[in-house]
Amino acid sequence: AKANATGSMRFFAQRMGEQVRRRLILERDLREALERKQLHLHFQPKVDLNTWRVLGFEALLRWNHPEHGDIPPAEFIPVAEEAGLILAIGEWAMLEACVHAARWPEELQVAVNISPVQVMAQNLPDAVQNALRVSGLAAHRLELEITESVFINETRGTVGRLHALRRLGVAIALDDFGTGYSSLACLRRFPFDTLKIDRAFVRELLVSRDARAIVRNILALAKALRMSTVAEGVEEPAQVKVLEAEGCDIVQGYYVAKPLPADQVLHFAMTWTGR
Ligand code: C2E
Ligand code: CA
Ligand code: CA
Ligand code: CA
Repeated sequence: AKANATGSMRFFAQRMGEQVRRRLILERDLREALERKQLHLHFQPKVDLNTWRVLGFEALLRWNHPEHGDIPPAEFIPVAEEAGLILAIGEWAMLEACVHAARWPEELQVAVNISPVQVMAQNLPDAVQNALRVSGLAAHRLELEITESVFINETRGTVGRLHALRRLGVAIALDDFGTGYSSLACLRRFPFDTLKIDRAFVRELLVSRDARAIVRNILALAKALRMSTVAEGVEEPAQVKVLEAEGCDIVQGYYVAKPLPADQVLHFAMTWTGR
């Protein structure tokens, strides 16, 4: 038994070693990814459940690594955050998203994901204002998606910066709602414009009465607080039906479309006919 335990320890250590090595490689390569134009954005549509029209697109980062292929953002964003690279990458993504959106028809909005590290940086309002100025995008066409982890290390400046962003005229969405430990508390810290119900609830919607009850009450809560509601990760028509019945405003997910390369956005928006 002892030999076995030692063996599995060694295996564990090897695996750990591999993970640490991959992380170091990613960090090293991420530093150059921006300059070498390996990062780009995909755009996933959001659709109005009442009119079934495309309201806009969420920008999602993609990294095409020359040796390792596509690396998912869930893997490289945390590396970027810890390595202090997220400010440069986030600033680039913001500007890139605004530049794309400025070429779309005026009724289409763009949403950009913002890391908590960016919210903690004092110049986020300046960075956003700069992206709007350079791209010429009207502020009301930009939405920032932030998660409740912003409030974990909340400092005095955090909420003030969110208000400063709001004063620029951009909308602010609370992303992944319901997945953290203090989702309800977040709603008291800042008056969000939009609430995005996490995919975890949508996934359970058809099989769990509890999940449906939770979604129903999240929607009621959002309505009472005058927020619009987005359900993310919608994959099946039956989920759309339930969300419609429960009064959700907007859907997003593979059922409508997967995130699209930038050059397919206009075609999608023009040819989308809904149901
Ligand atoms: P998120 O903001 O919650 O984005 C939604 C994720 O769910 C995206 O994964 C999207 O491709 C995926 N998704 C959308 N619809 C469906 C569906 O119907 N089914 C399933 N199974 N998945 C769906 P992605 O693009 O891999 O991004 C993962 C996360 O990485 C994002 O989660 C976000 O937290 C982060 N991220 C992506 N781009 C950025 C960025 O520019 N900045 C920052 N700070 N984070 C980003
Ligand atoms: Ca998001
Ligand atoms: Ca989300
Ligand atoms: Ca998420």
